[in-house]
Amino acid sequence: MNATDDKTIVKNYFNSTGFDRWRRIYGDGEVNKIQLDIRNGHQQTVDTVLSWLKADNNLAEISICDAGCGVGSLSIPLAADNAKVYASDISDKMVGEAKDRALETLGQKENPTFAVQDLEALSGSYHTVICLDVLIHYPQEKADEMISHLSSLAQSRVILSFAPKTFALSILKKIGSFFPGPSKATRAYLHREVDVVKILEKNGYFVERQSMTRTRFYFSRILEATRK
Ligand code: SAM
Repeated sequence: MNATDDKTIVKNYFNSTGFDRWRRIYGDGEVNKIQLDIRNGHQQTVDTVLSWLKADNNLAEISICDAGCGVGSLSIPLAADNAKVYASDISDKMVGEAKDRALETLGQKENPTFAVQDLEALSGSYHTVICLDVLIHYPQEKADEMISHLSSLAQSRVILSFAPKTFALSILKKIGSFFPGPSKATRAYLHREVDVVKILEKNGYFVERQSMTRTRFYFSRILEATRK
């Protein structure tokens, strides 16, 4: 399977069964135990990133690009803290849900700005570019291209998360829980941290802060890289 196929499959998945599944996981309604574990793990990842950004004490002064924003789990709290947020996702269903949630939570439509867009088609310049739990859908070579493109959009910082290859065995055992049922056609790719760091460095970025979220069914390595 080539990377273009991956993109089409991922897009179709997040506009159909994946949308229903992830909207529930990224919500607060009733879910099964595995989904609850993934929900809690993902919330920890979001909270880690929010805590890093808040610690810098400049949210109201910066622009943030949230690439692959999903239902807005990160974009909405960032906008609530007055960052200027540009949120986009390849799935129009996810963007539609994010817009609804933003309006409900924030009571306005101006910030975040939402768009349906493949992250590799994004242009512009942002203080910080963030891409959480998206690279898992792409093989290393494609992920490299994506990281390079995201790096080119950032003025000073890129924050990425990915499923690290070190936990390959435990993840592979549980992979059916990541993508159960018909959506099993969607692959989950693991990435070696050295490969991710290498491509960030090639683009002039160096890792500043790092964290690891690990629950039973959810694994996410988070790297913040800044321009030298
Ligand atoms: N970043 C969000 C979060 O952490 O809450 C959502 C994570 S969800 C597992 C992955 C998201 O990436 C989906 O909403 C999917 O549609 C989006 N996505 C996948 N490939 C993409 C691409 N090439 N460009 C933009 N978004 C993409």
